[in-house]
Amino acid sequence: MQLRLYDTLAREKRPFTPLDPENVRMYVCGPTVYDFAHIGNARPVIVFDVLFRLLRHLYGADHVTYVRNITDVDDKINDRAARDFPGLPLNQAIRKVTEVTEKQFHEDVDALGCLRPTVEPRATEYIVEMRTLIEKLVAGGFAYVAEDHVLFSPQAMNAANSVLPRYGALANRSLDEMIAGARVDVAPYKRDATDFVLWKPAKPGEPSWPSPSGIKTEGRPGWHIECSAMAWKHLGEQFDIHGGGIDLVFPHHENELAQSCCAFHSGRMANIWMHNGFLQVEGDKMSKSLGNFVTIRELLKDWPGEVLRLNMLKTHYRSPIDWTVKGMEESAKTLDDWYALAADANGGEPSQAVIEALCDDLNTAQMITSLHGLRNAASEGELNRTEFAASLHLLGFLSETVAEWKQRKQQASGIDAKRVDSLIADRTAARARKDFKESDRIRDELAAMGIVLKDGKDADGNPTTTWEIAR
Ligand code: AMP
Ligand code: ZN
Repeated sequence: MQLRLYDTLAREKRPFTPLDPENVRMYVCGPTVYDFAHIGNARPVIVFDVLFRLLRHLYGADHVTYVRNITDVDDKINDRAARDFPGLPLNQAIRKVTEVTEKQFHEDVDALGCLRPTVEPRATEYIVEMRTLIEKLVAGGFAYVAEDHVLFSPQAMNAANSVLPRYGALANRSLDEMIAGARVDVAPYKRDATDFVLWKPAKPGEPSWPSPSGIKTEGRPGWHIECSAMAWKHLGEQFDIHGGGIDLVFPHHENELAQSCCAFHSGRMANIWMHNGFLQVEGDKMSKSLGNFVTIRELLKDWPGEVLRLNMLKTHYRSPIDWTVKGMEESAKTLDDWYALAADANGGEPSQAVIEALCDDLNTAQMITSLHGLRNAASEGELNRTEFAASLHLLGFLSETVAEWKQRKQQASGIDAKRVDSLIADRTAARARKDFKESDRIRDELAAMGIVLKDGKDADGNPTTTWEIAR
């Protein structure tokens, strides 16, 4: 089946053909590790996890390399370290902040059903590669040293008569527009307002490394060069897919592309550039000041990770998404139904309709429509049931048994399952001795806890009671 993906650079869906069919290569910009990730950060993680799973399905699990970096050098990290560990030397405090945050990030995205990428490079381990790239750029006339900074010159890139792409092509802006729009108070060490930092001096006490040649004092890298270096090291000079959120198109990805293409004198960095749309919460931009800033961690207290995953995939990845409690409630209901029907089904192959929907630029909304169709067929025949289950497994769902799923939902809603079971046993005993006043009282007590009872009979005609959480 032909996979087609929307390429931000070409501004159209393009057939996807890996440069090397034996090794499909994808790079996605990862988190800056200084605080809990919010639900907006979960969007690229889930979207590109679905793409990773699809590529593994199409090309074989051993033929896909997925790199997602960890940015562990940043002012926000330094500020957090100084605030949280004032007694420690800054470098030690930074290590604490980044290690703890990285661990939290992994716990959160594991709970969302995301596979770990093949490699998760940390920026500070690639300083040598960054320096090499910077020196290549200076030697090629694309960058210059000024006041212990190294700056990249987009004007120099666009003046070069070669295979290079045009600076501004990804963001679809012209350099003239950017010059006109640049702020007037341009840093004195910049030749042009549009020049951006590849390397800069470190402030006293901040982490610093030996600088590229031409600078005697130690310094630290700019943000954009980190990704060019890590992508180069793990995926080579050119690779297949580069992804991230739409906010990264400019300047981050425009600058990554400029750096990599100029360093290697090539016409492209990634074959396809993909960007997920933004997430907002209950109709508003998510922000701390609006009080609607939600971390993945907080949501996981109330909802199983698969509910968050399904809720994210209901919207096409390029559209904006409005994150609501109502949406999560609907997703939870859908998953209850899917678990009940398919959690114990084994074997089978994923449905072609699901793969086809994904191959159309990850049309997850269409995919979910297909899943609803499969669900209805599954309720009628065992073959359909295994196909339905295999499709859900491929997408990162049904990672638990029905019992685990129920238990997780109970935990999330703060319900003590043992206590519920013991109350139900008391009620069954009361009914057996025809003490209906007591059995009704217990049912009301459970209802007040948000538990709905369902009475029935087992195969031998004995009364049974099952329960679920009222939503
Ligand atoms: P950051 O840590 O802000 O660099 O973000 C990490 C990733 O999350 C990047 O790919 C961002 O584009 C993405 N991201 C951040 N906020 C949102 C949001 N509200 N909606 C969707 N993606 C986001
Ligand atoms: Zn990046």
